[in-house]
Amino acid sequence: MAEPPAKPAHVAHFGYEGPKGPKAWGSLEPEWAACGTGKAQSPVDITPKAGTASPITFHYKPTAGTIVDNGHTLQVNLAAGSSIVIDDHTYDLVQFHVHTPSEHLVAGEQYPLEVHLVHKDKEGKLAVIGVLYDVGPETKALGQLWAKWPAKQDAEQKLRKPFDPSALLPETRTVYRYAGSLTTPPCSEGVMWNVMRRTMTETKADLTVVGLRMKPNARPVQALGERKIQ
Ligand SMILES: [Zn+2]
Repeated sequence: MAEPPAKPAHVAHFGYEGPKGPKAWGSLEPEWAACGTGKAQSPVDITPKAGTASPITFHYKPTAGTIVDNGHTLQVNLAAGSSIVIDDHTYDLVQFHVHTPSEHLVAGEQYPLEVHLVHKDKEGKLAVIGVLYDVGPETKALGQLWAKWPAKQDAEQKLRKPFDPSALLPETRTVYRYAGSLTTPPCSEGVMWNVMRRTMTETKADLTVVGLRMKPNARPVQALGERKIQ
């Protein structure tokens, strides 16, 4: 007798508006409860103050990558080779992706775009670098990516040339640091957030292109509660 076909894995869906929007995330799946009840959620509205965050040492270099439109964001997965060090602790760069408009606010101001560079240490702990982009001159690194946007969703494509992630960062790399979460389900906490104090820029024309390809994908800001921003 033939085996019954394997059941497809249960894939839950979320969105940014309507019945599967951010307010509902916490009740869509049991594993996503933190989205609704977590006390250290991201993003947040950052009140700019002089900082006390220890410096980040960047060991970024060009590595091979793939680009994918996963339906929620445009993401570039990078081969091993780049890392950051925070307080003698190393986190490897895994991927980066974009949000429009920005998820983090600074003094109540939302920016047109935010890049998230996601890093993981040996135990799987995450440290994310957030870079806010305002309207202005082109950032070449991003401009080149928009042209490589895959025509099909979920179709991962190889980048022809190695990608240098340092091109996404401002020259001065001081950060706002706080303890937060993933900004998409399951909204897991224990993520060390580092939002660059200096912003980058991207052209209005390119931001318009991104807006046409990607629906708004910014989770609204969450209560800071007892947390302090360094
Ligand atoms: Zn993100």
